Amino acid sequence: MTEVTPVRGLSKTASVLLVEDEPKVAAFIRKGMETQHYKVEIAGDGREGKLMAAARKYDLVILDINLPHISGIELCRFIRSKYAKVPILMLTALGTTGDKLSGFDAGADDYLVKPFEFLELMARVNALMRRTAAPAEETTLKIAGLELDLREKVARRDGKTIELTAREFSLLEYLMRHKGRVVSRSDIAEHVWDINFDTGTNIIDVYVNYLRKKVDRDASVKLIHTAIGMGYMLKEK
Ligand code: CA
Repeated sequence: MTEVTPVRGLSKTASVLLVEDEPKVAAFIRKGMETQHYKVEIAGDGREGKLMAAARKYDLVILDINLPHISGIELCRFIRSKYAKVPILMLTALGTTGDKLSGFDAGADDYLVKPFEFLELMARVNALMRRTAAPAEETTLKIAGLELDLREKVARRDGKTIELTAREFSLLEYLMRHKGRVVSRSDIAEHVWDINFDTGTNIIDVYVNYLRKKVDRDASVKLIHTAIGMGYMLKEK
């Protein structure tokens, strides 16, 4: 089988509820998805699907539209009312515009017409999972007029570039990620220097002073504050 790129930020195994009354189709989907680190539970009709959906929260739901007892559309509406964010992919043999619209209307996120290639299914599934996976990595940290571009490793204050060494940049990033909170010297030592804090050294205070000169000296609002006896804090006031 062709490799499918795994979704970043996705937990190792994602649980899938597959509601499909055609055993062959269900088995085909399960077999394929289980090689891609999805754990698939099958419901053979709408009623069973409803019970299973009510019992636990799945990471993804795949629903056939034409199902015995309760239709996929109705089931979709039920699942969406219970779980606002779970990705729902609808399957149908019909592929009519009406089907598609009622699926979206019922809260489906995407739609696939049978018969389909497994890779096409996985492309849709992965796209849906990506959309709900961990939010995109932060690339910029901001507080007041201070901006840290994490990709380009550039710091700016009020639009003006601040020249920082790699260590100063890491220290500022650490303070910005914890803005509004006091960080102790040992927190800083551990996370920025990757060492255990030795009380005999004043290296952290020295670096905080370097940063102060570069970040705060010419600015009207001071951002780096000393919490006496505790550590440092980055904040606006
Ligand atoms: Ca069916």
